[in-house]
Amino acid sequence: MLRRTARLLLGIVMTMAFALGGAVVTAGTAQADGCYTWSRTLSAGDTGNDVVQLQIRVAGYPGYNSVLAIDGSFGPATTAAVKRFQAAYGLTADGIAGPATQSKLYALQDDDCTPIHFSYAELNQCNSTWAGGAVAAGTAKASALSTMWKLEALRHALGDQSIRVTSGFRSSSCNSAVGGATNSRHMYGDAADLGAGPHSLCTMAKEARYHGFNGILGPGYPGHSDHVHVNQGPSHYWSASSCGI
Ligand code: ZN
Repeated sequence: MLRRTARLLLGIVMTMAFALGGAVVTAGTAQADGCYTWSRTLSAGDTGNDVVQLQIRVAGYPGYNSVLAIDGSFGPATTAAVKRFQAAYGLTADGIAGPATQSKLYALQDDDCTPIHFSYAELNQCNSTWAGGAVAAGTAKASALSTMWKLEALRHALGDQSIRVTSGFRSSSCNSAVGGATNSRHMYGDAADLGAGPHSLCTMAKEARYHGFNGILGPGYPGHSDHVHVNQGPSHYWSASSCGI
């Protein structure tokens, strides 16, 4: 979200522009943001880091059983994801990430670029840093950020009621201490365990299939009677036999 200071500065700049009779920021221009600011409208065919930043934030909208590639190339899958994001928030679903779409994304993120309903601390409850896992600390933290944007999409799809993360990134020693599998995706930073709350575990396990998680385990899978596990690992699976399908 826009920091108060940034908002204040923007207001001052606009006031000065009025006073000088110069051009003012128009309604069609996306505002600056404390985390990240796009400098152009993005649409099919565009490439670059600004596309990567967009893809991270709409990767929770890939469609059923799909995963959006974060590759910096705005292709048909990115267009479709942007359309689903736009539809989910009542915007014109044209697949073009212009000022309205960018403004909505700004409103959904904190200054550290995490989505507003999740935090790095929540995704790292058992370590003091992001080191000691199966990948470099920066990689684990980046994967956790990506996971959080998918959780934000899941949360919105489930009526904007809270989702409780009970475990995220684990160092190898933390993973051993909690009895995690030796090859657990938690050591990569891209996994999250979700506890029951406003939603049943089966409701979350089923809906997670629409939001870009590649691996999903829930009730009926051994060791998952009290949480749903979602991850972004390379293997595609869904197992929650107690959920009826
Ligand atoms: Zn797990």
